[in-house]
Amino acid sequence: MTGYAPTAPTPASSRATGRRVVVVGAGVVGLGAAAEAHRRGHRVTVVEQASEVVGSSVQNFGHVCVTPQAGVARGYALAARERWLSLGSAAGFGVVPVGTHVVARTATEQRLLGELAAERGPDEVRLLDAAEVRAAVPVRPGPVVGGAHLPLDLLVDPRAAAPALARWLEAQGVTFRWRTAARAVAPGRVETTRGVLEADVVVVAAHHDLDRLLPELAEEIGLRRCRLHMLRVAPARPLGLATPLLTGWSMVRYAAFAACSSAPDVADELAVADPGAAAWDVNLMATPQGGTLILGDTHGRATDAPVFQDEEGFDLLLRLGRDLFDDDLFGRGARVVERWQGTYATAPGREFLVAEPAPGVHVATVTTGIGMTTGLGLAADVLDRAGLAA
Ligand SMILES: Cc1cc2nc3c(=O)[nH]c(=O)nc-3n(C[C@H](O)[C@H](O)[C@H](O)COP(=O)(O)OP(=O)(O)OC[C@H]3O[C@@H](n4cnc5c(N)ncnc54)[C@H](O)[C@@H]3O)c2cc1C
Repeated sequence: MTGYAPTAPTPASSRATGRRVVVVGAGVVGLGAAAEAHRRGHRVTVVEQASEVVGSSVQNFGHVCVTPQAGVARGYALAARERWLSLGSAAGFGVVPVGTHVVARTATEQRLLGELAAERGPDEVRLLDAAEVRAAVPVRPGPVVGGAHLPLDLLVDPRAAAPALARWLEAQGVTFRWRTAARAVAPGRVETTRGVLEADVVVVAAHHDLDRLLPELAEEIGLRRCRLHMLRVAPARPLGLATPLLTGWSMVRYAAFAACSSAPDVADELAVADPGAAAWDVNLMATPQGGTLILGDTHGRATDAPVFQDEEGFDLLLRLGRDLFDDDLFGRGARVVERWQGTYATAPGREFLVAEPAPGVHVATVTTGIGMTTGLGLAADVLDRAGLAA
């Protein structure tokens, strides 16, 4: 396990031997890079344009969905899993190893889960029958044919985790420059709205705002913003759900499911059964957070992310929620307590952008909605590439 045991606070100025690392962006990727660089003995400064952690890293479900990843993302997710557990215990925020439940509402969806179980084995995918799913998840009895439990997955509270990590890093001696925007990055220096910072290594973790800091690089990969409808619902009775919950809509989205041979059939089935939801590119999923249910999400891609949200997206999520969950949980008496628009970076055909656009300037961007799962692993990899040895 990668240890992040608390060290005696060491102000950046007293870490005489380390290299000067400036990180742009205090989201999970930037904070992950800061934590890792500090652990490796370097002098770290984080530059964040906002006054606190405000980006995607607090807007999400808090679902660290390891098993649904494949390829490079799987490697990052496995590395990130260790880091979440270690950082949660060092910085004092909750990281709950409860796994994920996946509900299958058709035989085709259950067949797909069987294919994934055959590939990954029982340590990663435990198939469930309908009664087992209903015992773990407050879903309507009708259409449930089975499901699976993915024990490797974690649950964090996104509004607590990254802010707690930032506070802990500050206490450990990482310097934070809040309300300070990076205006330009170049070899050896970061020009900010409060002056120039000298750096041996710059890590740009500006997420979708990469298109404002390094527009040519963002344009080269077709970086855009993905906007999501999100709801927090206070249920009518105590939740009875301890894990994140995925559905068939998630099976056609995450790479490990989507690589299964039944994935095209699941996609066709969903598109025929609910063309309205398919048109919104829905991923029906939920996580329990503080006695409430975070429910999402829709996807719409554009260069910018205007704040105006179509009520149709929220109506759709509520309809899908009512179809999925027990009446006495989600029906009369359940209340929407928050609505918001989440925004994350997206780029055609890629999950990550790792680049060194100028010597010593390293870009670390997750270009799809899996940064809570993979971001801490990506951050460590970028430091390795920058020559900041572990
Ligand atoms: C609604 C929603 C649900 C999601 N659900 C999940 C999930 O359950 N599981 C999962 O794995 N992933 C999920 N994701 C994706 C995940 O949240 C993101 O991939 C991840 O948070 C990205 O982290 P980040 O640090 O790159 O970006 P951010 O958290 O957006 O942080 C980037 C920071 O950089 C700062 N910044 C930008 N430009 C500058 C500049 N020039 N100078 C200074 N600061 C700058 C910004 O202010 C911001 O604070 C979800 C995303 C959304 C929006």
